Amino acid sequence: MKKLVVANWKMNPQTEAEALALVSSWEHNLKQEQKHCDVVVCPPAIFLPAVSKHLKAVKLGAQNMSWTDNGSLTGEISDIQLKEFGVEYVILGHSERRLNLGETDSVVNAKLVEALKHHIIPILCLGGEAGAIENEMKTLVTKQFVQCTKGLSEHDLAKVVYVYEPIWAISTMKNSRPATGEHARDLIEHVYMLLEHRMPAKAARAVKVLYGGTVNKDNVHEYAKYPEICGALVGAASLDAENFWQVVAEFSRESVHHLNT
Ligand code: PEP
Repeated sequence: MKKLVVANWKMNPQTEAEALALVSSWEHNLKQEQKHCDVVVCPPAIFLPAVSKHLKAVKLGAQNMSWTDNGSLTGEISDIQLKEFGVEYVILGHSERRLNLGETDSVVNAKLVEALKHHIIPILCLGGEAGAIENEMKTLVTKQFVQCTKGLSEHDLAKVVYVYEPIWAISTMKNSRPATGEHARDLIEHVYMLLEHRMPAKAARAVKVLYGGTVNKDNVHEYAKYPEICGALVGAASLDAENFWQVVAEFSRESVHHLNT
């Protein structure tokens, strides 16, 4: 399966010029890796119009969207508005939005339904909730998966990109530590099992499930070596062109390796 690496810039960088400099440096390198790895960049919403004009190989994602396509919602952005700038993906259910902005599973579910209605691919984060602990992640992931995908047809479930992103592995969290590759693989297998309860195994195995949490050039091999891990959601390391590029290159390399073994 073709790998996918998603850059989550969060509220960075500070200026449009810096944002453009970052994507321009990737575009050049990416042309070589495109065959085996897709790349999506999710800049702050304010930079979407400028960044969209500079993208060729890289696809565009948003970090959030409203659960409705119109209405009086101060500060929100609709999926129709996002599509105007070529947005193809949207991150939903990120633990920072759950923790700091009070987003619940039912809000994430409403956004997921809305994104699918307008053909935006949701990147659904699973594993973020206050107090989450390592040996109880399967229970939390199951709960979030069930609630966030409520009412989705088999067909729609298959369009979603899932990310196992344990909150305690996000680099900016207090006392954070990246998951081991084995733990990430185990939880990703768990997500596949949840999908297999809702669709035939073959269809489930065609869905992309990524890992997120402090992935960078120094540890990417730990995740990329497992064929079940279809890519990564990358925060801090995506703000450094060289670091991010090496993450993409490693997933691309491992993808070729898995094809040949
Ligand atoms: C994230 O918050 O989505 C993330 C992956 O961050 P980091 O890579 O910095 O842990």
